[in-house]
Amino acid sequence: MTALPAEFARRVLHDLGSEQGAALCAALDEVPPVSIRLNPAKCGDAEALLRSLGAAERVPWCVEGRYLSERPQFTFDAAFHAGAYYVQEAASQFVGRLAGELSGRRVLDLCAAPGGKTTLYASLAGPQGLVVANEIDRRRVQVLADNVRKWGMGNAAVTCCEPRALGDLEAWFDVVAVDAPCSGEGMFRKDPASRDEWSENNVRLCATRQDGILREAWRALKPGGRLIYSTCTFNREEDEGALERLLAWAGDEAAEAPVAEPDEAWGIVCGRVGVFRTYRFYPHKTRGEGFFAAVACKAPDAAGRAAMPKGRRSMMTPVDKATAAELGRWVRDPESMRFASVAGTLYGWPEAQADAVRMLSETLPVIYSGVALGQVFKGRLRPDAALAFYAQLDREVLPAAELAPDEALTYLRRGEVAAAKFAEGLNLVCAEGRALGFAKRIGSRVNNMYPNSLRILKQ
Ligand code: SAM
Repeated sequence: MTALPAEFARRVLHDLGSEQGAALCAALDEVPPVSIRLNPAKCGDAEALLRSLGAAERVPWCVEGRYLSERPQFTFDAAFHAGAYYVQEAASQFVGRLAGELSGRRVLDLCAAPGGKTTLYASLAGPQGLVVANEIDRRRVQVLADNVRKWGMGNAAVTCCEPRALGDLEAWFDVVAVDAPCSGEGMFRKDPASRDEWSENNVRLCATRQDGILREAWRALKPGGRLIYSTCTFNREEDEGALERLLAWAGDEAAEAPVAEPDEAWGIVCGRVGVFRTYRFYPHKTRGEGFFAAVACKAPDAAGRAAMPKGRRSMMTPVDKATAAELGRWVRDPESMRFASVAGTLYGWPEAQADAVRMLSETLPVIYSGVALGQVFKGRLRPDAALAFYAQLDREVLPAAELAPDEALTYLRRGEVAAAKFAEGLNLVCAEGRALGFAKRIGSRVNNMYPNSLRILKQ
């Protein structure tokens, strides 16, 4: 493995002292732990799933988090493709503890791809909440949208904008999370290539970029709302330093957020920067990668009124009664949903957030939102692949073809699957009861409807 950057090693020995600094450097050369986070909306028989993954222990700070005894081939696990869990580094799962009560709230995840924290916030916000997951990078935003579809909560909107465009939704969000692009020192173990990309110059560039993102995050936050800031670096300039610079201009607009103290045994180094509570994860002290997280509130009496920028014409076209009735057959609680058509595809959103999503779509480039349901032809729905992943899909509406693990892999590769297990017509394709997608049997042939963009390529 490439050696740690010399300047980095020198700095940690200085900042942490020779004993702790050396312990950190040694830990960065060890094999990283593997962890997942279960999807509470669709993990089904969690015990059997955890056994098959070799899940050993709980991640102590996240109810759904588990360490695995070794790294399985996730690509060949149907439950992974069904969105039953997300492969997520353990320390990152801590942000869920900082968010406060999220049920029904509006969350902005400003730097969201590939979507690890987005899926966590989506689970916490629940069916009545809304997570706006933004990613600036056009390629990465597609991966984010795929992960949001698979997670299947139907309560997220994925956007692709500069943070400033989200800042313009002034005082609109109950929680704003900034998982900032950073110099990645905490990834030196998991991703050794990040050692070569590190430089002091890059640290300075990252710090400047973080300051800009935090300004926009603050604008988007409601008075009384929470800001969660995180990085995967140990660098003070990008961690506590970013908070000090924020407090210098935010002044008494910033206030403390009530949070439960972490258990001392977890090894998290807790601190404070003004009103911010801070949490440092060192791999030689906690079981996870290097991580920094912080939380504070915008004071309830801080200035700021929700102000949406002037919108364009809405992209959403309401549906007629017959279409709504057909769509309603496919979901468990149709009364709690709003249906509309966007660019020829029918979607559903939680009624509680549908107006918010409509306003968003009038002002920002929304790549994906709610759940894509499909298209109606001659009164019948031709379902979108996303509907199979939706946790609120009504399973009674179509027959399920339960495949064995090897057959499920053939399906996920878009290969030819034998017809025997399929009813004539449209089927939901399942493995261990978890939905993977749709397929249509016509006589002795099965039309594999798994999306080309998601198919497994690895042999
Ligand atoms: N939150 C993600 C997760 O848990 O899966 C990881 C986010 S990653 C640490 C930071 C993200 O910020 C990257 O996807 C990167 O493309 C994005 N980014 C880069 N420059 C940015 C900028 N100027 N403003 C906002 N986001 C940016």
